[in-house]
Amino acid sequence: MITGLDEKLQPVLEEVLRRNAGEPEFHQAVREVLESLGRVVAKHPDYLDDALIERICEPERQIIFRVPWVDDAGQVQINRGFRVQFNSALGPYKGGIRFHPSVNLGIIKFLGFEQTFKNALTGMPIGGGKGGSDFNPRGRSDGEIMRFCQSFMTELHKHIGEYVDVPAGDIGVGGREIGYMFGQFKRLTGRYEAGVLTGKGLAYGGSRARREATGYGLAYFVGRMLSTRGAVFADKRVVVSGSGNVAIYTMEKVDAFGGKVVACSDSGGYIVDDAGVDLDLLKEIKEVRRERIAEYVRSKGAGARYIERGSIWETPCDIALPCATQNELTGKDAATLVANGVIAVGEGANMPCMPEAVRVFQDAGVLFAPGKAANAGGVATSALEMQQNASRDSWTFEQTEERLASIMRNIHDVCAATAEEYGSPGDYVLGANIAGFVRVAEAMRALGVI
Ligand code: NDP
Repeated sequence: MITGLDEKLQPVLEEVLRRNAGEPEFHQAVREVLESLGRVVAKHPDYLDDALIERICEPERQIIFRVPWVDDAGQVQINRGFRVQFNSALGPYKGGIRFHPSVNLGIIKFLGFEQTFKNALTGMPIGGGKGGSDFNPRGRSDGEIMRFCQSFMTELHKHIGEYVDVPAGDIGVGGREIGYMFGQFKRLTGRYEAGVLTGKGLAYGGSRARREATGYGLAYFVGRMLSTRGAVFADKRVVVSGSGNVAIYTMEKVDAFGGKVVACSDSGGYIVDDAGVDLDLLKEIKEVRRERIAEYVRSKGAGARYIERGSIWETPCDIALPCATQNELTGKDAATLVANGVIAVGEGANMPCMPEAVRVFQDAGVLFAPGKAANAGGVATSALEMQQNASRDSWTFEQTEERLASIMRNIHDVCAATAEEYGSPGDYVLGANIAGFVRVAEAMRALGVI
């Protein structure tokens, strides 16, 4: 007996656990969605027909491959590559590529599963997928990164395409890596198929505002969520974990909205700057010099402090925005944030809050925005990049950001309305899971047994 789950959905989860042994992150992601679906099947029992929910939990295709490459010392290195093509009912598979030593099949499956519902929430014609490798880019030279990306794409190119599967960046994969992968795709296929990857540079088919989109989108979503309680970002103390793509552009937009970001982190530790994090300096350290965050304190001098390891969530704040990685915020961290008076939490990363943390926030009445809704701005803008590529067009920053803002407003409102319809006003987790599920399920039903 699995607690907290509708009895009709128990066999679905039991089968997922049995068939995907040793993949705890995937189990966690499936369980969270199934917990929300109890109310859907109570109202619409026909969703239980034809093993529809079981099919949604099973990826359409899982590709695992060897990635051999030669390092600067002339040594041959081997990594493992993955692409999980989870669901294509709504469009070509779409989702990022992650390079991080922790990557394994279970992590890519959890991300692909989440991505399927996230992409559905955007209302755009994109299915869900995710990929990556256990390659660790840290400390690698430019040449090594390029050779790795080329080898990775040498296999991946057989499985992707504008109408098939369109990867983008994620942890460890930014503009530089997308450029190397696009270059190799072009060489191998002899085709300038711009719509095969998103997150491209502006010089060769990228979209303005794609780099900023996930972070900006998170700030837009949380801003709208705050407004449901008559609150705004202005004059709030904000803590953002991570200092990568999502974190940096979240901070930039929070700043523009008048909030004050007082702490951020990387995997080595975190910095606190009560005067407000100096974004120009942070960008210089992280985007240009590619250094550790401890450098911030050395460069900034008085006023800022660096805490090695430790939990960034001990920093008192009004708004917490976890933007680093999965399961980075525990139940204990959530209790600390609540005790310190947090009023809103928005997930920039995918599944950064552990299930017990989400419960702590919800029980305390803290506004909580789940990643699959709140960080959907990145993939939505990737879909805008695909639109621009298909029409051989290039939009201005303002035009693209306006589309992003309107998509985020819409996602927020759909989640809020769905939560209300299913009897839990203000429960964005429930709203996002149900609204995403219904869109995917309806498309799958229309396509027959697929
Ligand atoms: P980046 O690689 O640009 O940045 C990741 C940041 O998180 C770095 O500061 C990194 O520190 C830190 N980090 C990574 N792993 C850990 C860890 N195990 N413990 C502590 N800190 C860690 O990635 P992104 O900003 O692109 O992605 C961040 C999150 O947002 C991920 O969950 C990703 O799936 C999600 N996301 C990203 C989107 C995008 O458009 N890029 C879209 C939607 C979601 P260090 O450098 O020390 O490793």
